[in-house]
Amino acid sequence: MSVTRPGQDLSKKIGIYGGTFDPIHYGHLRPALDAMHQLGLSQVRFVPCYQPVHRDQPQVSSEMRAQMLQVAIKNQPGFVLESCEIERQGPSYMVDTLRELRQRFTSDDLVLLMGMDAFGKFTGWRDWQGILALANIAVMHRPGESLPQTAPIQALLEQYQVTRLSAAAGQIIEIEVTQLDVSSTRIRALVEQDEPIAYLTPDGVVDIIQQQQLYKQ
Ligand code: ATP
Repeated sequence: MSVTRPGQDLSKKIGIYGGTFDPIHYGHLRPALDAMHQLGLSQVRFVPCYQPVHRDQPQVSSEMRAQMLQVAIKNQPGFVLESCEIERQGPSYMVDTLRELRQRFTSDDLVLLMGMDAFGKFTGWRDWQGILALANIAVMHRPGESLPQTAPIQALLEQYQVTRLSAAAGQIIEIEVTQLDVSSTRIRALVEQDEPIAYLTPDGVVDIIQQQQLYKQ
């Protein structure tokens, strides 16, 4: 299903990094930077979901999650907050997001970044074939996660996996990124137990969590 467009070699590659980001942490940020450099992305657009469709609902509002994200990325050139799912409201389907971004960034290639745990569920996503028609996918290694040996994922890799992106969409690449065993779940649990969260997420995010008394239940 590889897709080519005229003038493709002049196009830039934009990383699209969706998540709940409840809250954002270094396990999101450093792998995104690794991906940006390894894949030659001109930018990474972080897309906090409004209403996740494949998991539990977030503990804090989309505005607050976006605010923490903005603080976390403010000093990194190329990292951008993309608020389209928050503005769209309703269930946040990635295929809808990519359609919207495809229309806004007409001459750029889109690369959807996802951790290995997320990729393991990819064939359960709404219209995953549509997603592959709109973007390439970069699967980032994550501590404790390996590719599921399920038939649908194996078949997907057999058909679409490459070692170098060479088309505008329809390809899947696995990339090695810095392995940081940090999760939002762990940060929320630490806050709830009054344990420190410093060095798991940028200081500005720690400050917001403390000032706004987030994740205290
Ligand atoms: P939670 O613990 O609430 O499930 P999370 O830490 O997994 O959250 P999400 O916002 O759900 O974070 O993840 C967004 C994306 O970031 C997903 O594709 C996920 O695989 C990826 N990701 C999250 N943490 C890491 C990590 N430490 N290393 C690599 N990828 C990660």
